[in-house]
Amino acid sequence: MLELKALSKTYKTGDRALTDISFSVPAGQVVGLIGPSGAGKSSLIRCINRLVEPSSGRIYLGETELTKLSGRALRQARRRIGMIFQEYALVERLTVMENVLSGRLGYVSGWRSFLRRYPQTDIDQAFGLLERVGLGDHYNKRADELSGGQRQRVGIARALEQNPELLLADEPTASLDPKTSRQIMRLIQGVCREMNLPAIINIHDVVLAQNFADRIIGLRAGQVVFDGPPSALSHKA
Ligand code: ADP
Ligand code: ADP
Repeated sequence: MLELKALSKTYKTGDRALTDISFSVPAGQVVGLIGPSGAGKSSLIRCINRLVEPSSGRIYLGETELTKLSGRALRQARRRIGMIFQEYALVERLTVMENVLSGRLGYVSGWRSFLRRYPQTDIDQAFGLLERVGLGDHYNKRADELSGGQRQRVGIARALEQNPELLLADEPTASLDPKTSRQIMRLIQGVCREMNLPAIINIHDVVLAQNFADRIIGLRAGQVVFDGPPSALSHKA
C-alpha cells in the first residue's frame, strides 16, 4: 500500500510541478497516471522514489514514511520499489539473466562481481520470472539481441526480482508499437494482480490506460483533476 499525503513540489526554478496531491494505492491496484505534457506525472513518480525531493507532504510505503528517510535507510527503502523505464535501462552487453539478477541491487556499478555470488534461490526466482514474462528460452541472450518488447519484458522481470512492494513505471510503452504496448500493459497488469502489487504507471496514451489500468488518476497543472475507474473517464480527457 502506497499513500501520498498533501504532496507538493516546486522546483528551485520556481516551476510548480505538484500541488497538494493526496491519494493511496492499495495492494494489487494498477493506477494509470495520465495528463498532458508538463502536468507533473514524471515529478510525481520521481518524488515517490525520491529522485526528486518533495517540497512538502508525506509519502508512506506500508508503514515506512519515505519522506523522512535519507542515506542508507533511503537506499534500502528504494529497493522496495521496482522501477520500469521507457528505454528499459538494461545493460546491453550483459545477458538477460544477468540483467534480471541486477534487480537485486540498488546500483549497477560494481554489481558484476556480485553476480557470481548469487544464491541458487535467486537464480531460480529469476528463471521463474523469465518464464512468466515469456522469455524462458532467452535467459542467455545478450540484451542487445532482443526486440523492444522483449527488452521491456526483461525490465519487468528485473523489477520483480527485487521482490518489490510497489511498482513504478515511467512511460513503459512509449518506445513500443501499439500491439507490443498492449502486450506489455497486459503483462504488467497481470503480474500486479498475481503478486498483489500496487503500481503507478505514467502513461500518455489514454486508451491504453483505460484498457489496462484498474484506476485512472488524471493530472493537470500539478493537480488531480480525475480519480476513478477507467469506465468513468470520457474519451476526450
Ligand atoms: P509530465 O511528466 O506530466 O510531462 P513533469 O513532471 O515533467 O510533467 O513537469 C511538471 C512541471 O515541472 C513542468 O512545468 C516542468 O517544466 C517542471 N519541471 C520538471 N522537472 C523540472 C526540473 N528538474 N526543474 C525545474 N522544473 C521542472
Ligand atoms: P521527458 O519528457 O523525456 O520525461 P524530462 O521531463 O524528464 O524529459 O526532462 C529531462 C530532464 O530535464 C530531467 O532531468 C528533468 O528533471 C529536467 N527538466 C524537465 N523540465 C525542466 C525544466 N522546466 N527546467 C529544468 N529542468 C527540467
